[in-house]
Amino acid sequence: MKRGDLLIYLFSASMLLFSFLLYLLLYSGLGFDQHIESVVVEYKKQVYAKIPLPSPERTIDINGPWGVIMLDLNGYKVRVNPFSPLYCPDKICMRQGWISKPPETIVCLPNRIIIYYQGGKYIDGLTY
Ligand SMILES: [Zn+2]
Repeated sequence: MKRGDLLIYLFSASMLLFSFLLYLLLYSGLGFDQHIESVVVEYKKQVYAKIPLPSPERTIDINGPWGVIMLDLNGYKVRVNPFSPLYCPDKICMRQGWISKPPETIVCLPNRIIIYYQGGKYIDGLTY
């Protein structure tokens, strides 16, 4: 009885560990394989700003005709800082939170701003 319980416990523990390691492996593997070059801020279908990635953890202000967007950067992760000045009426772009890989995008309809990744498998596949 006791021995069986221990085996089941060990088995589930090792499965848990295994899936965790697999996750780490896949996650880091994908990160290396993506070749994300930069994150692009497009305004009215024109490239307004391009920030090379990966970036250290920081917040940058992008000034434009719409006001100021505060972008949070951390490695390949990007988000609109939820404490940005009230430049956006619907705030959907701020509520969306972090994006971390293509083809994820942040769209701000009221300001006609699109934030997307340049490089990466998905975009390359579209380009060629
Ligand atoms: Zn918005």
